[in-house]
Amino acid sequence: MNTSKFLILGGGMVAGYTAKQLVESGLKPHQLTIVSSESSLPYERPPLSKGFLAGKDAEASLLINADDFYRAHEIDVRLNCEVGSVDPARKTVRLHSGEEFGFDKLIVATGARVRMLEVPGSDLANVYYLRTLEDAKRIRQNAESAKRAVVIGGGFIAMEVTSVLAQKGIATTMVMPDDRIWKRFFTPAMSRFFEEYYTERGVRFAKSNKVVKLNGAGRIESAELQNGGIAPCDMVVAGIGVTPVTEPLAGSGIELADGVVVNEYLETNQRDIYAAGDVASYYDVLFGKHRRAEHWDNAVSQGQHCARILSGDRTPFVHVPYFFSDVFDLSYEFWGDSSGAEEIVERGDLSTRSFSVWWLRAGRLVAAFAMNRPDEEREAAPRLIQSREAISAATLPGAL
Ligand code: NAP
Repeated sequence: MNTSKFLILGGGMVAGYTAKQLVESGLKPHQLTIVSSESSLPYERPPLSKGFLAGKDAEASLLINADDFYRAHEIDVRLNCEVGSVDPARKTVRLHSGEEFGFDKLIVATGARVRMLEVPGSDLANVYYLRTLEDAKRIRQNAESAKRAVVIGGGFIAMEVTSVLAQKGIATTMVMPDDRIWKRFFTPAMSRFFEEYYTERGVRFAKSNKVVKLNGAGRIESAELQNGGIAPCDMVVAGIGVTPVTEPLAGSGIELADGVVVNEYLETNQRDIYAAGDVASYYDVLFGKHRRAEHWDNAVSQGQHCARILSGDRTPFVHVPYFFSDVFDLSYEFWGDSSGAEEIVERGDLSTRSFSVWWLRAGRLVAAFAMNRPDEEREAAPRLIQSREAISAATLPGAL
């Protein structure tokens, strides 16, 4: 049995950044094994729905560490491996193939998998989900010849994929259950701004609507909508959320609740077992609650933090949740957690595409959005959320 000091379950972004940080902290040869279900070395996911999908980024540029990094540091990366179970008492991980790996310390970084459509016709060719490099390659290839697309969902994937497809000249319809785009994050004014921006660039919306059936003979030809409408299309991309991958941990004794429950040190309830990234429901000390964050920044920071903890630096993970997105020629950023906000302050001017939004709760800043704003505002947002200092609309950055 292969036994290593550190074993990472999952070969995604956490694995890439944990490996990188462990090396910086003095990892020795054969101390780290990565068991991955993917067929590629750990790669960056954000370009999959942006530059890579648009055909601007090459595949090699996505790798977090070049392949000679793993060779140079004698890190064993096992690709195409499906993990079946984890035994915390024996400190082993068992693959479906029967092969076992032993560990001193285990990092669970199994990530999340896409939620699938449950409508008739969802097994037709040219119905896609976007999570892996292979998914992005298939969509990119199909987009070369597609004329009409339906994108299902109103969140990250839907917004980013729609912007790439529309820029390729594909007539794209976004079908979403909510009455406005990205209702969960955006204020009504923000949704209105993005809907107008997309509409001006040829995108159509089917809001408060759902795809109830996909039609075609082998390949997709049209999507039937709940309101009776028919959207002809030669490709469908569904971005309807993800669920954490925890099946291999069932019955292991590792606490699960919307992911793997960890404390502020990323430790599970089982000794020497940690979790990080999309799968980790971690204790967020800034907001005083457990949360799962499904973002690039979280995978990077938790991967790095976990490596430091494994290297003996047991400090809590204190981090303001953050994400960024690029759609058409716009880039924006978001910090914090707007849930429960009592006051929303908007700055700037939507018509000039330069605006920020600030969410306040109990006299503190809890979240901020910025697009084309001065660095002063961008830098202040995470700092003020983290410091929890008393603030009001009048004392926020950019106040007149
Ligand atoms: P998401 O952001 O959670 O959005 C899912 C969208 O699908 C929501 O609009 C949701 O509506 C809708 N939806 C849920 N169930 C549906 C159904 N059965 N039929 C139609 N629509 C449905 O997830 P995503 O866009 O699929 O992204 C997947 C993951 O990739 C997320 O973890 C995301 O964080 C990550 N990602 C991040 C970035 C970034 O950080 N820039 C970019 C791409 C992807 P409700 O909100 O009403 O439920």
